Amino acid sequence: MKEKIIDMLKERGVTLEEIAEIVLNMQAPYNEGLSFDECLWSVQMVFEKREVQHVILTGLTLDKLTEEGKIQEPLQSIIASDEPLYGVDETLAMGIATIYGTIGITSFGYLDKAKPGIMERLDNKESKKVHTFMDDIVAGVAAAAAARIAHTREVGEIEDDIS
Ligand code: MG
Repeated sequence: MKEKIIDMLKERGVTLEEIAEIVLNMQAPYNEGLSFDECLWSVQMVFEKREVQHVILTGLTLDKLTEEGKIQEPLQSIIASDEPLYGVDETLAMGIATIYGTIGITSFGYLDKAKPGIMERLDNKESKKVHTFMDDIVAGVAAAAAARIAHTREVGEIEDDIS
């Protein structure tokens, strides 16, 4: 399942490295000597969680079906136009952001506003691609990976990551 989800992300134009880049930029000021590999590892760990896999599967399937015009109205138009008041994309991705506790909420809120790195490209309304769920999924995974780094560095050991 994990590999399938990672393939799905790639198919939709996002790599784990790009998410790790966001994590590094966000966490480096607070964690001395934090490496890209450590961030990439943290992102990998987030993908081990079944609840994360399910959120991604759901969100990306809805993005893809909307892109193909296969969703029933009025939902088709709502997702296609990324209506600001829809909010289900954020709600769903919040489930990823909080897997390592509420500490992920702050990062999620920040990423949602700042849209760094790949998130800015995903937010581009000019393209015909639908990334209504994808941008929040990227923010959710990055926020969770950042929260995990904060926790493991605090505790000084790697917790059992597999749920
Ligand atoms: Mg969105």
